[in-house]
Amino acid sequence: MTVGVQRLAKRIAIAGGLETANLLRAAGVMRGARGLGAIFTLHHVRPHDETAFAPNAHLEITPEFLDIVLDRLKSDGYRFVALHEIPALLSEPGSSQPFAAFTLDDGYRNNLVYALPIFEKHEAPFTVFVAKGLAERTHTIWWETLAALLRKEEKLGFDFGGGHEMLDITTIDAKERVFARIANHLHHHDETTAVSTIDTIARTHEIDPIEIVDDLVMSPSEFNLLEASPLASLGAHTISHRAVSRLSESDAREEMGASRDYVAAITGKPAQSFAYPYGTREAATLRQSAIARDLGFAVAVTTQPGVITRRSIDNVTYLPRLSVNGLYQKVRYVSGLASGIPLRFALNRT
Ligand SMILES: [Zn+2]
Repeated sequence: MTVGVQRLAKRIAIAGGLETANLLRAAGVMRGARGLGAIFTLHHVRPHDETAFAPNAHLEITPEFLDIVLDRLKSDGYRFVALHEIPALLSEPGSSQPFAAFTLDDGYRNNLVYALPIFEKHEAPFTVFVAKGLAERTHTIWWETLAALLRKEEKLGFDFGGGHEMLDITTIDAKERVFARIANHLHHHDETTAVSTIDTIARTHEIDPIEIVDDLVMSPSEFNLLEASPLASLGAHTISHRAVSRLSESDAREEMGASRDYVAAITGKPAQSFAYPYGTREAATLRQSAIARDLGFAVAVTTQPGVITRRSIDNVTYLPRLSVNGLYQKVRYVSGLASGIPLRFALNRT
């Protein structure tokens, strides 16, 4: 095993790749019991850029891979539906044909440039979740800022609460360890403060976090352009992209409601769907699903893995999704690795 393959294997384990592969199998993306359907999560859709340190690689797939996924689902008998149609589908008498809905979080420009043509080719509806603060450039994307910072530097000063530490980030492994440590710190401390610390450090290293958002995220006029496609819908994704479960009830309501209104202002129609930032069990709970229902969202999605079943109708503002994990598409090119890990289930029917 080369160091590269070891690192890849470790990343897959960290990113929950095995779990997702097994769920895809359980979901019957191959065959078998697949529930009524599935909602897929995507983030970036763009050509692959070979970067040694890519801690967010699981969040991106290539347009070619999206094309393969859509072909595969179609040949497996899935029909493509819009996310907001799911509540109605759940209350209809059973159809034997499973459905697949596609969602893309955060509103990256590559969704318009690369994903839209592929969805058009397959006539597949999709929903893009807009965070107002990113669209308006008032908030930053800490995981992208941190990746840029760690990629650029070989040493980094950071205070995890026990005083200033100088971290060695010379190697890719060290960069990955520090990325994971800072991410963990952020998820367990005040998120606003942690993001602002990352932004401040980045600026001292001549990285502009707002420029990163500007490079990556669609502007309001681009969201308009996207929304002109009959296949595209916009959903809400808060203002600041903080975990809503860690906010006070009133702050969570404000974040969710204001992003709902923002999407309505862009599209001229009420926002029907919401995606919880991060979407894990820790980042969104049933308490926020009640707020989502209260705010009039027809549907809200987590990133907790699972398929849609008849029982999902009981909680349409807390639906699970399956992540189309960017690590698979690269892993499939690493011959020999697939035999040890059930990644083939994500792609091959064998
Ligand atoms: Zn997000």
